[in-house]
Amino acid sequence: MVDLKGYEFWFIVGSQDLYGEETLRQVAANARVMAEDLAKDGLLPGTLVLKPVAVTPQGIKRLFAEANAAENCAGIITWMHTFSPSKMWIQGLALNAKPMLHLHTQFNRDIPWDSIDMDFMNLNQSAHGDREHGHIYARMRLPRKVVAGFWRDGEVRRRIGVWMRAAAARLDGERSVVMRIGDNMREVAVTEGDKVEAQVKFGWQVNTWGVGDLAARYAQVDEAAAARLVEEYEAAYTFAPDLKTDGPGRRAVLEQAKIEIALKGMLEAEGAGAFTTTFQDLHGLPQLPGLAAQRLMEQGYGFGAEGDWKQSMLLHAAKVMAAGLRGGVSFMEDYTYHFEPGHEAALGAHMLEVCPSIADGKPRVEVHPLGIGGKAPPARMVFDAAPGPAVLATLVDLGDRFRMIVNEVEGIRIEHPMPKLPVARALWKPYPSLAAAAESWILAGGTHHSVYAQALTQEFFRDWAEMTDIEFVLIDKDTRPDRLRDELRWTEGFRR
Ligand code: MN
Repeated sequence: MVDLKGYEFWFIVGSQDLYGEETLRQVAANARVMAEDLAKDGLLPGTLVLKPVAVTPQGIKRLFAEANAAENCAGIITWMHTFSPSKMWIQGLALNAKPMLHLHTQFNRDIPWDSIDMDFMNLNQSAHGDREHGHIYARMRLPRKVVAGFWRDGEVRRRIGVWMRAAAARLDGERSVVMRIGDNMREVAVTEGDKVEAQVKFGWQVNTWGVGDLAARYAQVDEAAAARLVEEYEAAYTFAPDLKTDGPGRRAVLEQAKIEIALKGMLEAEGAGAFTTTFQDLHGLPQLPGLAAQRLMEQGYGFGAEGDWKQSMLLHAAKVMAAGLRGGVSFMEDYTYHFEPGHEAALGAHMLEVCPSIADGKPRVEVHPLGIGGKAPPARMVFDAAPGPAVLATLVDLGDRFRMIVNEVEGIRIEHPMPKLPVARALWKPYPSLAAAAESWILAGGTHHSVYAQALTQEFFRDWAEMTDIEFVLIDKDTRPDRLRDELRWTEGFRR
């Protein structure tokens, strides 16, 4: 669904006109070799566009002005092949609005011990040229990612690829609409937030539509089209026995198919990439969107329950970052704990809405009553999440700023069938431990809702937080809650 090749990344190689034509020709030729080779690498998912070698302040300023105006330019990579005095870069960097990656590398891997002379040294002086370049970012307090190492190295390329995916999600954010169907759940604090600031920081347009609009579309859905969609479900998922024959269960699945068609039509009409629902505002709908919400997440839409638009948009951003990668990404909620010594774990789930992209095997479609919302029993997909490394990510609004919190976790295979639990679930062991992770998350003000990502690591979210200029808090193997509390207090001063 997401085509990352549509995102351009400009590669700007820096030098100066002090060295003469021959040196600049060599710089340009080497830059072309690098750009062509990097462009072919699947680790770098965007389209790399090589720009002319940057040698004058006027040329550099013009390049950045062009980048700002280029709609598909998602980010800029700079690298100094030679020395490139960085006062030449000030005016360009001052007007730049694109995410930056400073690649610190050099064209040759090895020192040519036998032939090295001063001409070679002058041509290949990234080691000091990039330090001059990096200084001006630090001096100007500019957000950026620095990646150092040999450019053919897989780890260097992987880290550039992560940044490209984050930058694609950031640019996608400028085109993204979150469709809030109904308001936030009454009295809940953590799903609230400053929607104006969200648009300033992330580009997200967070707007509201009435559930009545959805109900009207629902009432208009062609029954035959919905029946065909149910057959599609039956081919893709396992149906519980009571759904195979005509009866109330089958009817409930058909209603979810009608909701999916209605909701998708509405999302497409508004160009929305994410949506929220709330069980407190379902007037005119037969059920809370369950299976329908799961299906739309599977197709790449962001979703947040109880009006949680921040996690909905974050989920959509994560889906963009994860495009084509192994493993899924889902809306998630910390639900209940297992405190058995040595086997501590958290069980995550939601009332209905967990994305089947994280499932281990084929999801089962089942219909059960829902004890909340006072509507008919909704159909939903039930499954266990696949085991393996994952991260939980969330965004909170602290009143004066957004904070992103990411916890590294290990998804665990669920050994118990839990036959009476009628929802999709994930079991994980958070790092550094259940207790320390929970203490840290709570000290940082983290939500009960989050994005559960098997396909992504903390680095994706860190890069995205850097380029959107928000606070980033990591809870990993090395986190100590007491130290984290101090860090949060220092950051409080920094951010003010
Ligand atoms: Mn919830």
